[in-house]
Amino acid sequence: MNIKKSKHNCLIIIILSVLSCAIFLCSCSFGFNFTDSNTKAENELVVHYLDVGQGDSIFIELPNSQTMLIDAGVSGLGEGIVSYINDCGYSKINYLVATHPHADHIGSMAYVVKNIDVGEIYMPKVSTTTRTYEKLLTAISDKGLKIKSAHSGMSIADESDFSIDVLGPVTIDEDSLNNCSVLLKITHHNNKFLFIGDAEKQELSTINADLSADVLKVGHHGSRTSTTEDLLERVDPSIAVISLGKDNDYGHPHKSTINLLNEFDVTTYRTDEDGTIIVTSDGSDITTQTGGKSIEREE
Ligand SMILES: [Zn+2]
Repeated sequence: MNIKKSKHNCLIIIILSVLSCAIFLCSCSFGFNFTDSNTKAENELVVHYLDVGQGDSIFIELPNSQTMLIDAGVSGLGEGIVSYINDCGYSKINYLVATHPHADHIGSMAYVVKNIDVGEIYMPKVSTTTRTYEKLLTAISDKGLKIKSAHSGMSIADESDFSIDVLGPVTIDEDSLNNCSVLLKITHHNNKFLFIGDAEKQELSTINADLSADVLKVGHHGSRTSTTEDLLERVDPSIAVISLGKDNDYGHPHKSTINLLNEFDVTTYRTDEDGTIIVTSDGSDITTQTGGKSIEREE
C-alpha cells in the first residue's frame, strides 16, 4: 500500500515538473518575442519616443513595415539606437530625418548612418560648422548617400493607408537653427502625429498648413519658447510627449508648458519620467505604453 502510494506521488511529481517546465519555456519564448523581434500587427503605425536623455530620437514602424528615424540624440547613443531598431526586427531605416543640426538631435547620427542600411535622408537646408555636423556629412557621403532638403509642401510618403508630409520649415532662419526645424505630420487613417523638432514660436507662426494632430511631440524639450496657447489651439492634441533628460541644465520642461498642457486637457508623457514611450495607432484607436527600454550612453 505504501509503495503504491509512493509510486503515485512520484507520478504526480513528474507530471508537475513537466508542466512547470512547459510553462517556463512558454513564458521565455513570449518574453523573447516581446523584446527581441517585431510584434507590430499588420497595418499598425508604432511610434517609439526613445528615452535618450536630453535630446530627441524617435523611431517609427510604418504600416507597410518600412521605418523612419527622426533625430539621433547626443553622441554616444548610436549603438543603443541601432540595437533598439534591430531588436524591433528591422535592419533598415527607410527615412532618416535630422530636424536640425544641433548636437542633441544629430549627435549619434553619423554612427547610425555608418552602422545600419539607410534609404532617404532629409535635413533642412542650413549648415553649421560643428565637428558633429561635419562628421555626419562625411558619414553620409562615404556611404554614397545624398541629402534631400526638407521644406514645407514636400511629401515623403503617400501610401493608401498613411502619408508623411513636411510642413516646415517654410523659410530658413540663418540666426536660429531651432527655427529651421523640419516639421512632419504622419497621417494614419483617422490618426495624426505631429513632430516639430525644436521649432519655437517664430517658426511655428510661419506655418500656414493644418497643424491639427492627435499626438504632439512637444517642441524644444518642453521649453516655453515653443509651447504657446496659439500652438495648442491649432494642434488641439489629446496626447503630448516631451523628450528630455532628468535634472537637465535648461530647466526643461518649463512650468508654463506643463500648465498650458494641463489647461488644454492634454495627457502628457515625458521620457525623463516614463522612459521610452510607445504610441500605437491602428488607424482608429491610439494606445500608449510607457516604461520602454531607455537608450544608455556609451562612455
Ligand atoms: Zn534640442
